[in-house]
Amino acid sequence: MLTMTFLGVGSAFAKRNFQSNVLVEAWEKGPDYQAVPDDTLLIDYGTTGPQALYALMRKPGFEYLARGNTINYPAIHRVFITHQHADHIGGLEEMAMMNAYHYGDRKNGKRHKPQIISSLSILMNLWDHSLKGGLSVMAGRYALLQDYFFILALNPAEPGKDRFTMLKRYHLRLFPTDHIHIERKYDWPSYGLFIEDAQTQQAVFFTGDTRFDYPAYSRMMEQAHICFHDTQLFDEPNPVHALISELRTLPESIRRKTYLYHYGDDWDSGPYDDVSEQFAGFAVPGQRYRVLE
Ligand SMILES: [Zn+2]
Ligand SMILES: [Zn+2]
Repeated sequence: MLTMTFLGVGSAFAKRNFQSNVLVEAWEKGPDYQAVPDDTLLIDYGTTGPQALYALMRKPGFEYLARGNTINYPAIHRVFITHQHADHIGGLEEMAMMNAYHYGDRKNGKRHKPQIISSLSILMNLWDHSLKGGLSVMAGRYALLQDYFFILALNPAEPGKDRFTMLKRYHLRLFPTDHIHIERKYDWPSYGLFIEDAQTQQAVFFTGDTRFDYPAYSRMMEQAHICFHDTQLFDEPNPVHALISELRTLPESIRRKTYLYHYGDDWDSGPYDDVSEQFAGFAVPGQRYRVLE
């Protein structure tokens, strides 16, 4: 069984919800939420990630995420990075430091190292332009990304290297998303995930951050039995997310299985009250979605 739990469902600047980061849990046998999952993955870990994980660990069924009064970071085995915006990576420095120092053994230098997964270009930029500032020194020496994480670099253009698996059964394939153009489509790397159960062929579609681009995603969205799509509630001429007005044009069969996330703080101000009828609904933070059996 595979479950997905949003640490938050908010936009980059939301204050009423945490940012849109997701805990994926894979279970050999289930459902037994009293147990510890057999594999765990965070899809992104943004600036509000630590506060969101701290809130989640106090909820029934997520006790394994707590150790004493703090986050049990060794319970997070892996983290996948969709792209480099702070609402998706801003919590990584804390994760790395807590694993290295709080959960590390100072005497023998051993530390807990989760796996970090993304395309090679994102991982290189992530270190060089984001994480290096705070993480490149340890007492007495310089440090690199591999001092904190086991690195899995994927290549979206190479079949077989465009995916990783959880419990061998669930295949998580990254696909490029049209989030920010510098000069042309896809020239600033960002990715979504298509998660497929190799036993049942059931699948989940997760956009990460993207503009509306149904022609590029239609086959995946048709195949998936559940979709999660980022959205922006207010219209503007040159958006970097799918506008809710654009998502309303999706075929009804697609809308009905699509949850919206990454939304702004005014979701309950009135104009979006029909989202639960038009779509599967707004994704709810802290709710464990049982997405694959
Ligand atoms: Zn974002
Ligand atoms: Zn973004």
